[in-house]
Order: sequence, then structure tokens, then C-alpha cells
Amino acid sequence: MIVDLVLSNAKAYLKKEIVDCSLAIDDGKILKIGKEAIMPKAQAKTDLKNLLVLPGLIDAHVHLRGQEKAYKEDFYSGTAAAAAGGITTVLDMPNNDPVTMSAETLRNRMAEAKKKVLVNVGFYSEFPRNVEEIAKIVEEGAVAFKLFMTEQVGGLNIDDDRALVEAFKIISGLKISVAVHAEDKTMLKKAEDEFKRANRNGIEAFLKAHSENVEVKAIRRLLSIAEQTNVHTHFCHVSTENGLKAIVDGKKSEMPITCEATPHHLLLSVDDLKRTGTLALTVPPVREKHHSTALWDGIKKGWIDILASDHAPHILQEKKAKVVWDVKVGIPNLETTLPLLLTEVKRGRLSIADVARLMAEKPAEIFKLKSRGYLKEGNNADLTVVDLNRKYKIEASKFHSKAKYSPFDQWTVEGKPVKTFVNGQLIMDEGEIVAKLGSGKIIRREKL
Ligand SMILES: [Zn+2]
Repeated sequence: MIVDLVLSNAKAYLKKEIVDCSLAIDDGKILKIGKEAIMPKAQAKTDLKNLLVLPGLIDAHVHLRGQEKAYKEDFYSGTAAAAAGGITTVLDMPNNDPVTMSAETLRNRMAEAKKKVLVNVGFYSEFPRNVEEIAKIVEEGAVAFKLFMTEQVGGLNIDDDRALVEAFKIISGLKISVAVHAEDKTMLKKAEDEFKRANRNGIEAFLKAHSENVEVKAIRRLLSIAEQTNVHTHFCHVSTENGLKAIVDGKKSEMPITCEATPHHLLLSVDDLKRTGTLALTVPPVREKHHSTALWDGIKKGWIDILASDHAPHILQEKKAKVVWDVKVGIPNLETTLPLLLTEVKRGRLSIADVARLMAEKPAEIFKLKSRGYLKEGNNADLTVVDLNRKYKIEASKFHSKAKYSPFDQWTVEGKPVKTFVNGQLIMDEGEIVAKLGSGKIIRREKL
């Protein structure tokens, strides 16, 4: 048999250890992992020169934009950024124009994406207006639902607990997860309105409005709903000490919950906002340092299940509105996340096993992405090849993303993704995109 590709001289992260081996790839799958001598003949061969091979990274929180928001990012530029950042699968958020919140909007989004994506893309849906649509959205292949608690995005009235419980009960029967942006809308809007009336329109007022309590209140509310309905609830971008505490309490009482942290909440603080201004404004915002200390502690203790970029690109103009309440929140992060994490590996705050667990194994498990997340025979050949010794400066002006700015711009990092294979195909090589539009796959949730 002649296989498609053999990758030789790899240091691959397998079953919790790094092993010198070769990998045979055929028809998009890993056919064999082992010594060079047992590799089958191949049409093509690549010598990886002892570079580290990680299971293809999965970023479970990405806003790819596209459609009417394509001026900010489109399916090509967003997935090129993913490939350049060593990420082989992204899960796309539903706050689009049109909002992904019905079988039809999901189908249309998948159809547009299919022609352009370079990596695997799965889709979240917001809740529909009519709960009967929920099953149709699942049937169409959404990987999970996303619920924004901070403002009304989907069709479900987020002010109404009974409506939330009713929708979650339907979700429970369909065994699909709900990811939540946990900030309490009522509390947030009240604070925001007060600041607006007092003509306080700066970053300081924004931070006060998006207080720790705003996060904690929404988390507690969702914990109660998850408990009543037994729906797996995933808390996106946890940012505060007490928010994490509430989640840990829920986990200790065996609730079906998981949570995520982002590089910016781990590595930036309010001090950085003095340097970056509104450019680094996100929701939830970056916080005082003791919060990130608590998040690092949560990673160490295993309470934080995954890391995700929350890649949320905007055009520069939208980031620089004079009135803070008009600033579009979010930062591009697909091309910075892995280098920042690898730098933390160098510093000893994370291990390679942590990176693989937090960005491949656990996201695959949580979102039921079958045959991904681990390097093993039979799995899809999604591989992230990194050079741990490459030291360089992050240059936002060279991003593949349309959003060419970053709060991490000019940071020196150590560790670089140098090749990205998606379903056995080389997509990125030394920062260059080497594959055609549409080389990636649309991932649909497996039918029950
Ligand atoms: Zn987000």
C-alpha cells in the first residue's frame, strides 16, 4: 500500500508523553504512528527535523464573522489566522449578521463557510425565538448552543427564568451543550445607564459597570438552571476570582458544568489598558491582577477545563470610538494564543501536556468532536507542528486576520507554530498559507 504522506523525525505528544516517531497519513487520517522502519511507502515524505507535533489545536471560542460582518473578518481570513496560529478546528460563535439562530441561518452560514474555510469549523447557534426550532437546529448540525446573558442576541427572552428553564429542558433531551457568556444584563445596563447619565464615558466607568458581581450573578443564575435541567453548561471566558469560585462550588457538587479561560484574562490586567486604551477592551474586561492569579491557580488545580482565544475581530475605527460605550469589544487572538501559551511553557507556568489537554483533548471531549483532540491511529490527521526554540516578536501588522492590532503586539514570545495539517493536508507552512480556499471541513455534530 502506498499512503499519502509520511512525516518522519517527529517528536509527537502521544498519551501524555513526547515520543520520537514517524506518522503515516492516508485519506485524511492518521494510519500509523511508530518507528520509521515500519512506515508504509508514501507518495510524499516530510522530515520534521525533531519538531514537536501536538494534536491539532481546537479553539472552542471564535467569532469568524463573515456574511454582513465580512468587513471585520471573513471565513477565509479568519481560518487563515487560525491555521497560522496552529489551530486546526474552530467553533464559530452565533452573534453574526444575520444571527445564527435557526436551521435556515445555520444552513446558510455553513454554505458560505464551506467554500472558503482553511481549517475545520463547527458552529454554535443562539436560541431561536420558537423553542420548537431547537431540534431542527440540532438536526442541521450545530455543535452547541450559545447563550448571551449580557444582551439580547438570540430569540430567547433572557430576562425570563421560566423561558430559560423551558428551553434548557428541551436541550436536555437532545444531549447538546450550552455555552454561556455570563454577565448579568439587568445589573450591567443599570450601571451603564447611571454612568451615561453622569457623563462618565471612559474606560474606568466601563470596568466598573462590568463588575465582578455582574459576572458572578449570571453564573449563579445559570448554575441554578443547569441544576434544574441537567444540561451540560459551559462557562465561556471566566474572568474573576469569585466567578471561578462559584463554578468550582458547582463542580464540587457534581454539576454538569465546564469552564474556559482566555489568554487575555490570564496575561493582561487593568494596568495594560493604560497602555493600550480601548484597543484591548473586551467583555468581560481584563481585571486587577489578583483575578488572573486566581485563574492561573484554577488551571493548576484542573478547575479550568479549556483555554480559548475568544478571537473577536473588528476594524480599528470601531475600537477607537470616543465614548467607551460605543467601542466594539473584542480582540483578534487566533495568531497569538498558542505562541503566548508556549511562552508560558518556557517560563514553567504550563507544560506541553497542559497545552494539549486545554486546547485539544478537553475541547474535543466537551464538544464531542469525534476522532479529534488526540494523536492516535484512526483519528483525523489534524496536527500542529511547533518549534519550541523559535524566539520572535508578535507583529500584529502581519496578521492573516483582517484585524491587524493586538494588545500583545511587539511582545517577545518563544515557541512558534510552523506547520499546520488539517485532515492530513498541509495548510500553513512557516507562516504562509499553502492550501486552497475551502480546504477545511464543516463539522456537524454527530447524530445521536
Ligand atoms: Zn466571544
